[in-house]
Amino acid sequence: MRKVIAARFLGAAATAGGGPPPGPPEVAIAGRSNVGKSALVNALVGRRGLARTSRTPGRTRQLNFFALDERIVLVDLPGYGFAVGPEAERRAWKPLVETYLRERPTLRGVLLVVDARRGIEGEEEELLAYLAALGRPAAVAATKLDKLGRAEARGAVPLVGFSARTGEGRTALWRVVDAWVA
Ligand code: GDP
Repeated sequence: MRKVIAARFLGAAATAGGGPPPGPPEVAIAGRSNVGKSALVNALVGRRGLARTSRTPGRTRQLNFFALDERIVLVDLPGYGFAVGPEAERRAWKPLVETYLRERPTLRGVLLVVDARRGIEGEEEELLAYLAALGRPAAVAATKLDKLGRAEARGAVPLVGFSARTGEGRTALWRVVDAWVA
């Protein structure tokens, strides 16, 4: 699935168990706010504005569902680890995201996006442990690879290195996604 012809916004889930009814296999994208999640989705799909929807006001605390050629559904999870925002919203994050990860029958794998300069930190470890406990396949994409020198990148990258800017890692990530949904 390297060339996506049609990508469209399917809908959002603002409360646990919400969102469009289960359809094609889903791949969820997780990562802290501002890590480069939207840029990665856009670069992966080759659609400049696709994931922008998720940044419109009110959409940042929802799960956003995008259909790719009606064959794969990408699910943009709300960024975790946000220090700001009302307490009620922060408390709402866990049940919203965890219910989805635990119960969604069509979920095939989770791509965790981290900043290549920071790697896996506490919150990422927590999420990976949660996914492992659920038996959900996960992969880590270390994005903004272009911000590191070559030697540095080789040492720091945990799994799949990626750059939305240069497109590096796009084929490797598609290989992971294709294997999950096949
Ligand atoms: P999100 O909040 O996780 O969806 O983050 P965005 O995709 O909106 O990206 C946050 C910032 O990082 C923006 O200013 C992007 O232009 C920048 N960014 C995202 N990906 C890359 C990348 O691969 N390389 C570089 N240099 N900047 C990036």
